[in-house]
This record gives sequence, C-alpha cells and structure tokens, in this order.
Amino acid sequence: MRIVVTGGAGFIGSHLCDALVASGHSVLALDDFSTGRHENIAQLEGHPLFSLVSADIGDEGMVRECVAGADRVFHLASAVGVRLIVEQPVRTIETIVHGTAVVMKACARYRKPVLVTSTSEVYGKSAKVPFSEDDDLVIGPSYRRRWGYACSKALDEFLAMAYWHHSRMPVTIVRLFNTVGPRQTGQYGMVLPRFVQQALKDEPLTVYGDGSQTRCFCHVKDVVGALIKLMELPSARGQIFNVGTREEVSIRELAERVIQLAGSRSTIKLVPFEEAYGADFEDMQRRVPDLSKIERAIGYAPRYTLDEIIRDMIEYYSAKRGGAAAAARASRP
Ligand code: UDP
Repeated sequence: MRIVVTGGAGFIGSHLCDALVASGHSVLALDDFSTGRHENIAQLEGHPLFSLVSADIGDEGMVRECVAGADRVFHLASAVGVRLIVEQPVRTIETIVHGTAVVMKACARYRKPVLVTSTSEVYGKSAKVPFSEDDDLVIGPSYRRRWGYACSKALDEFLAMAYWHHSRMPVTIVRLFNTVGPRQTGQYGMVLPRFVQQALKDEPLTVYGDGSQTRCFCHVKDVVGALIKLMELPSARGQIFNVGTREEVSIRELAERVIQLAGSRSTIKLVPFEEAYGADFEDMQRRVPDLSKIERAIGYAPRYTLDEIIRDMIEYYSAKRGGAAAAARASRP
C-alpha cells in the first residue's frame, strides 16, 4: 500500500515509517522539520520504499497532492510537548487546528482512510480515573495556555467525527497517553528523556511540583503496532481509542528508577511548577487510560514494562553520548 505519514520525521512518526517500510509498504513522510528531525529518518533515506516531502501541514496544495496518491493517511503532525505549548501558544493552536483541517479536507476529497492522533491531554483535569473514551472532557480556563493544546486537539477530534457523521468518511481517532522511547527529545518538556539525560550526566533530576503526580508510560513500538492495527480495522472507523499502558508511576518514583537503572550519582531536585512553566500553569494529578475498548478491538497488549522502557532509553542516550560503559550498565537485568 501507499501510505502517507504526516509528521513522519517526528518521534512517533519516524517509528511508524520504520514499521510500515519494514512491512513492505511504500511510505511518504510529510514534515516541516519544526520539531521533526532529519536524524529520526536518516536510516530510511535512500530506501526505495521511502520518500520525504518537506512541507508545512498547512500547505493545502502540497497536502492534497500527497493524499491524492495514497491508500492510507496517518495524521501525526502536531505541536508537541508542554514546554513548546506554553512557550508558543499561537503556533500550537494554529498548527493543530488549521493543519488538521487541511489534512481532513484532502482526505475527504479523495475519501482516503485517515487515522488522526489525538492525546490524553483532552481528558484535562478529569478526576474520574481511569479515563474512558466516553468520559466528559474537563478543560481548564482559556487564560491558562496549557489548555489551548487540549482544546485544539479536542477540536480536531470534533472535526474528524463531524466528517464521519456528515459523509461516513473513514476516520479513526486515537488518544495517545505519554508515549516514550528512543528518539524522543526532552527539548519540549517530556519528562523521561529529560530524566535519562540528566541521570547520564550525574546532574540532579528536575522533578516538578512534589512529584506525587502520576503517569503511565508506553513504549513507542507498542503504540505504533496499535496504530497500524487500528487503521486496518473497518469497525474502528468513526471510533475513538485510548492507546497507552496501565502501569502507573509517580514522577518522583520514576526519577528514582531512572537513577537506579542508570547507575547514576544524580540526586532529585524539586522544582515548583511556576518556575518550570510560569505562573498560569496547571498540571494533572493522575492520568491512567481505560484500555478495555482497544483490547476488545485488536487484542491490544503492550509488551514493554516501564523498566524495559527506561533501559531502552538509557541505551539510546548512552549510545548517542558515546557512553558505552553506561549502556552496558543499563542493559544488565
Ligand atoms: N516533569 C517533571 N520534570 C521534568 C519534566 C516534566 O517532573 O523535567 C513532570 C511534568 O510536570 C508532568 C510529568 O512529569 O507532571 C509528565 O510530563 P510530560 O511533559 O512528559 O508529559 P505530560 O505532562 O503531558 O503528561
């Protein structure tokens, strides 16, 4: 099949391209390299099944041209990371809302099956844990910049569902919960690459708030496998699915595990949210997915435990730093 991946040079997009090419599909990655990186797809460059278009997702003509020749479209292009969202709120909203509108319009024009990646952020500060796809979305006030991201992604979902209701356009929506793994950068705020890099340098791990907030981290390879399966499931059209794991960990405990698995001499430094993200910041205390829907749909069962994920990231970042000794330490069971 011919498959378009928007955001194909991004962290998740590049792993998706790898998996699709490895299965014999022809892949066209569309990326404007705002947060995508060439090194993520360097291994694919020159492969006869891979091509790359360097363009903005808001470029209607280019998106239409790419989509016209495709059998499937995975739409992953988006602003990402809490730091980027807080520092660039206008660009965040415009990229997400306008970009998705352009992609959806092109897919609707040619009736191409499209999978839209949304986020667990849309659940906002709901206290009804675990979060199920049918739950209400609890978004905070619009003067707090973080909620602009949640709201924009929720609007993408509404738009995708509107196309489904309007013309039965084949669209599937997934809500990704804290996806992590090799190639993820800490540059935009994501906690695990930041902790791993800090631990490898024996620097203090910056735990925001008191560290009691919890998350469930899912390996990007588990996520990619789920996306590919959902795309091929006719009954998933017009549906929303959570993708993640149930292994809940507090951020403080995460820091401790990273230090231990990296064999690091780092300490833990508590940083007030205000210092990290400014005065109008609001974090969510718990974020755990209800996975029963995706389990029923595709027999979803993530393979990576949190410790395996952490080891994988330590290995990746050690190799990047040329730190063979630390990599060997990390791969010890
Ligand atoms: N976090 C932290 N230290 C960091 C970066 C993030 O303690 O250096 C916290 C962050 O405040 C949040 C959690 O780790 O409570 C997960 O953050 P991330 O940005 O990775 O994902 P999200 O907030 O979207 O769940």
